[in-house]
Amino acid sequence: MLILVVNAGSSSLKYQLINMEDESVLAKGNCDRIGIDGHVSHKTADGRTVDADCNFPTHTEAFEKLVEVLTTGDAAVIKSMDEISAVGHRIVQGAEVFDKPCLVTPEVIDKIDELRELAPVHNHAHALALRACTAVIPKTTPQVVVFDTAFHQTMPPKAYMFALPYEDYEKYHVRKYGFHGTSHRFVSAALAEAMGKDIKDLKIISCHLGNGSSITAVKGGKCIDTSMGFTPLDGILMGTRCGAVDPSAVTFVADKHHFTPDEMSQYMNKKSGFLGVSGISSDNRDITAAAEKGDKRAILASEMLAYEIQRYIGAYTAAMNGVDAVLFTGGIGENSWEVRERVCTDMEYFGIKIDKELNKATRGKLMKISTADSKTEVWIVPTNEELLIARDTLALISK
Ligand code: AMP
Repeated sequence: MLILVVNAGSSSLKYQLINMEDESVLAKGNCDRIGIDGHVSHKTADGRTVDADCNFPTHTEAFEKLVEVLTTGDAAVIKSMDEISAVGHRIVQGAEVFDKPCLVTPEVIDKIDELRELAPVHNHAHALALRACTAVIPKTTPQVVVFDTAFHQTMPPKAYMFALPYEDYEKYHVRKYGFHGTSHRFVSAALAEAMGKDIKDLKIISCHLGNGSSITAVKGGKCIDTSMGFTPLDGILMGTRCGAVDPSAVTFVADKHHFTPDEMSQYMNKKSGFLGVSGISSDNRDITAAAEKGDKRAILASEMLAYEIQRYIGAYTAAMNGVDAVLFTGGIGENSWEVRERVCTDMEYFGIKIDKELNKATRGKLMKISTADSKTEVWIVPTNEELLIARDTLALISK
């Protein structure tokens, strides 16, 4: 059984075709630069590729190209779209409306579009992609939407409310939603399995560290708190996002620069974080390299990242009244031994002790990196959001 997983943005359409018999990826790619010009890059499991400039005025042409590369030419992996059992879509914002995956209907697409106010960059693009997909794939192929926010819907009000006037929660739905939920759900379940424990008996702190980063407290398999908030801007500093700052600093800076709300948002989302602090790059590898050469601002950015993660580990240990395991995932969490080592230094009070050599030697694979006498286990757990979307899609269409 084949499932097509789609991750659509405003100008891109990433996809993976997954064979659910063995959960292998048959082909993956990206129809990029939608609305600008257009480019497709496609790669099959056996190494055949398509790399070509195209014309993608809208998501519909991008979807048509996706169908074309999957079904025709040298890098085709299927003969017809009828071979695909379902399409699973990643959706960023489900708000309080969607707390689990659901089948796509015209009403569901409209609702996702309506939520665009809460995720301006993402939800409208998802709705455009869903409509384009519906127009292009066979009418009989079911589609499923899986929400980044859904896993966090178990947070109690004391964790998700902001201390703003309550009426604005009621009227404008201003609250913490949390993001990366599919990843946190996938890695916390994978960790419980690796530990040989029932997730219901575990207190896990999941650190998803990438261009965007979030930390989640998972108690008994449920999210009880998470670092991202109303939008993916909250929490720890990221590649170009500032994370949490004193709200008064926001109004002060906006006033000084005469920024509109949109300009202030750009400043915090695109010019801050690693990039803003270091002045060098948003990429962790560049920051680590510059810090090694002694660049003071790169060192500061690295130190800030580790310190903020440590503070969340402390906070979430308190929130869960304990912690059994801390896990690292995402591009930085899976690959950067330097970040993991910094985070796990001077954390004995929390029962955290890592095997430094093992940590240094491990990249991108499921591995326990804490020492045998570490009270709290520390793990690297590679994430796979596409696979979880495919599994959710399969589960829903099998019902
Ligand atoms: P993601 O958004 O999950 O793809 O993660 C992107 C981040 O992971 C970037 O900051 C990269 O610098 C970082 N990253 C990827 N590979 C490595 C690596 N081998 N070592 C250190 N950081 C890495």
